[in-house]
Amino acid sequence: MRQPRDISAVGGDDVVVIGSGFGGLSTACYLADAGADVTVLEKNEQLGGRASVMEEDGFRFDMGPSWYLMPDVFETFFGHFGRSPEEYYTLERLDPHYRIFFKDGDRVDMTPDIDANKATFEEYEPGASEAFEEYLTKSERNYEIGMEHFVYEHRDRLRDFVDTDVLRHSWGLSLIGSMQDHVEDYFDHPKLQQIMQYTLVFLGGSPTNTPALYNLMSHVDFNLGVYYPDGGMGAVVDGIVELGSELGVEYETDASVTEIAGRRGGFAVRTEAGAEYLTDRVVSNADMAHTEQELLPPEKRQYDDDYWESRTYAPSAFLLYLGVEGEVEELAHHTLVLPTDWNEHFEQIFDDPAWPEDPAYYLCVPSETDDTVAPEGHSNLFALVPIAAGLEDTPELRSQYRDLVIDDIAENTDTDLHDRIVFEETFSVDDFASRYNSFQGTALGMAHTLRQTAPFRPGHTSSEVPGLYYTGSFTTPGIGVPMCLISGLLTAEVMGRE
Ligand SMILES: Cc1cc2nc3c(=O)[nH]c(=O)nc-3n(C[C@H](O)[C@H](O)[C@H](O)COP(=O)(O)OP(=O)(O)OC[C@H]3O[C@@H](n4cnc5c(N)ncnc54)[C@H](O)[C@@H]3O)c2cc1C
Repeated sequence: MRQPRDISAVGGDDVVVIGSGFGGLSTACYLADAGADVTVLEKNEQLGGRASVMEEDGFRFDMGPSWYLMPDVFETFFGHFGRSPEEYYTLERLDPHYRIFFKDGDRVDMTPDIDANKATFEEYEPGASEAFEEYLTKSERNYEIGMEHFVYEHRDRLRDFVDTDVLRHSWGLSLIGSMQDHVEDYFDHPKLQQIMQYTLVFLGGSPTNTPALYNLMSHVDFNLGVYYPDGGMGAVVDGIVELGSELGVEYETDASVTEIAGRRGGFAVRTEAGAEYLTDRVVSNADMAHTEQELLPPEKRQYDDDYWESRTYAPSAFLLYLGVEGEVEELAHHTLVLPTDWNEHFEQIFDDPAWPEDPAYYLCVPSETDDTVAPEGHSNLFALVPIAAGLEDTPELRSQYRDLVIDDIAENTDTDLHDRIVFEETFSVDDFASRYNSFQGTALGMAHTLRQTAPFRPGHTSSEVPGLYYTGSFTTPGIGVPMCLISGLLTAEVMGRE
């Protein structure tokens, strides 16, 4: 792994970071460590961005991310400051990693035991055990090369990709075909193809619109493992906020920024409450579409409205948070419920937006692992159905969909929740838009299609406003908690060289 670049040039600067998602929190830590005076302004009542936490009636729900993946990235992050994740939170490796209920009555567990997984694959298709091993070997190589040469590197411009070193390292990697074609080269059985592809939902894509370079996600899933931070993902937010405080970062919540105005030698950042922050530089971790369209005057925007309208957005989501009486023993901590043909659901996200009639969805039951997230004798779970960004979202539609999801869980997972629900709340398209200023209510930002990956994704520097920078999932490397942590490093490094 390369050494971090020198960020010390930011020392002594005042920096305002707008938004406290993982990208903003991470950037703030790197800058403060390098000697900058950093203030994070967060619109909402709590820090963490899409990793917000809801506490009601004794239940504690992670409202956003729930899969702790790529532990190596968190170690690298804390290691930069001479710390380790264990100083801030405790991790548990999950077993099984996850359970899948196929809607034809079949169910399968994927576990930390690779041999057990190989045997499972072989049961579905003769020869699949060997194919699985080959697939993982390639995925691991792609991960190592991808992380070193692409993810942790600044390759904001197309010409950065055509340097001979990168080409040499990319040789033989399956980069730009679709994930669907790539997976079909290894497995014929549709269920095995689904197992290798479900991780694309983390990237906000589908098997046909995501490039095959993301097969590296299988190394993440099977080899690096799936973990749970005790207390939930909110504990990771708390850990990074604590680290930032130790480094001198100041945080303000309920501070919704309404304007980034230029002034001689810097900026005036104004909030809804009428406060004004005079600063040398600004980093926006708010969704880039919001920053450009709402916080900057038209002549200072890099992209016009057509640009934002024409992007491919990652799905929004229908989230149903449930507090339930008793155990839900059929469900694992992470459970996927998949129709055997999920193409229609992907079409209803990306091609022909509609509320999916036969949804593929995810159930998270942290109370299987952690008894602090629900009152005694109760279970804490949420259902997450990916739906198209920008979809019509009304109380009536939510209520109908809530019934559909509860019925579907009963039908496909032997878990009848109908008469056991003691707390429930929904969160969907309109909430993403209003709570996070998310464009079209996307849950994740811009999808990782080929045309929105690496040099084709917005970079960390504003080309129109010197001193304004971006971080988080709209920029490179992209979506997901580990990627946003790395984005913070890349943003700080860009600032250090200017
Ligand atoms: C439901 C869901 C499930 C997910 N599951 C996983 C998972 O299991 N594992 C994983 O790794 N990733 C997961 N992700 C993705 C991951 O959570 C995100 O990619 C990541 O947290 C985004 O971080 P970010 O840095 O882009 O900032 P964000 O989290 O998007 O935060 C941006 C912040 O900016 C604030 N803001 C916006 N406008 C303003 C303004 N004008 N003034 C001040 N503040 C403003 C917002 O309120 C927000 O707090 C999930 C996401 C969601 C929504």
